[in-house]
Amino acid sequence: MDKTFEQAVLVLNCGSSSLKFAVVDPATGEQYLTGLAEALGLPEAEISWRFGSADKQKSPLASGADHTQALQFLEEVVFKGQEAMTQALVAVGHRVVHGGELFSQPELITDEVEAGIEKCIPFAPLHNPAHLLGIRAARRLFSHLPHVAIFDTAFHQTMPPASFMYAIPSKLYKEHGMRRYGAHGTSHYYVAGEAAKLLGKPAEEVNVITAHLGNGGSLCAVKGGKSIDTSMGITPLEGLMMGTRCGNVDPSLVFFMVDELGYSLDQVKDVLNKQSGLLGISGKTSDFRGITQGLEEGDEQCALAFDMFCYRLAKFIASYYVPLGRVDALVFTGGIGENSLVMRSKVLSLLAGFGYQEDAQANEAARFGQGGLITAEGSAKAFVIPTNEELVIARGAAAFAG
Ligand code: ADP
Repeated sequence: MDKTFEQAVLVLNCGSSSLKFAVVDPATGEQYLTGLAEALGLPEAEISWRFGSADKQKSPLASGADHTQALQFLEEVVFKGQEAMTQALVAVGHRVVHGGELFSQPELITDEVEAGIEKCIPFAPLHNPAHLLGIRAARRLFSHLPHVAIFDTAFHQTMPPASFMYAIPSKLYKEHGMRRYGAHGTSHYYVAGEAAKLLGKPAEEVNVITAHLGNGGSLCAVKGGKSIDTSMGITPLEGLMMGTRCGNVDPSLVFFMVDELGYSLDQVKDVLNKQSGLLGISGKTSDFRGITQGLEEGDEQCALAFDMFCYRLAKFIASYYVPLGRVDALVFTGGIGENSLVMRSKVLSLLAGFGYQEDAQANEAARFGQGGLITAEGSAKAFVIPTNEELVIARGAAAFAG
């Protein structure tokens, strides 16, 4: 590659059986390399990657390969012949789902920080252990670079008690940390900042409602650049209706399932996290494209799933006028928010009483990575802003470059 490099950050996002990676320019956001190792721990473990917009490359990994072996492949095979890029690496940024109340900003990873991430495992029992596997492997392999943790929960640490507390005995919070933490913080932070730029004002002067709608979905009330409320709770199950998660329900459903139906608690967990939401109502798919296709074909259950998704989302958005008082813009992001013009159109019409009026042409134009204002002149403002969590992680990590 005859490209010249200023600075680059290796961004890692480790799941229990996957490792997503990217090499990002923290100044411009350019992604030099993106890739994914999948099926880790299984015989069919494999890795795929792409430099810029070049063709995707793919290779099997050793049967049962783990996070360490995936990173070794990255270093020895994928990085081979990319000296200019590897020499430009200044830091490794690790996405971490849960930082509890311990972390409210990017942290240089030390043994103490690893211990803190371990302490938060009860709040993210699948994610945090996987992040630790990746962090430990990467710290060994790339020991010459600073490693930085960027937490999904950190941005929401500015929420006041009135929004983060549950109305349960306060000793459950004081002694066991039972409170609302939220998620998708890097995405909400990024799109709120971009919205301020589009409004031509400093972030400190802008109030926005950000809707991150992907397979998981959450809302955030951002006042003067700070999160003051969000829809996810102690786990990502609370709040909006999602792909397979139920969002807000009466907790008594749990008692009914256990007492009347004889479900085990693991079964209840599975029903509410993996069999509910769009999948549960449609009986077909958790994928929003499938829901809208069903809607067009006259499938009644898909139509109901679509209506519920939009209705509950619009009601939740309306509730954020209370903490914000004045709302300068509503922002849609995430796979559904960035692409589904029918969803945006429906939600804006449900919010007509708050002054929103869609500009149909602009709504149609804002898709597939293209953002912009989607409301008519004189309307309350709604933007589509493609999110860029990798860039936030790269910038957070580059700040620790030596
Ligand atoms: P994740 O939360 O896993 O990062 P994404 O942000 O990629 O997920 O969002 C995935 C969701 O976006 C899926 O429900 C998918 O159907 C939806 N989506 C992607 N493209 C479109 C589209 N063109 N129209 C409607 N929904 C879309």
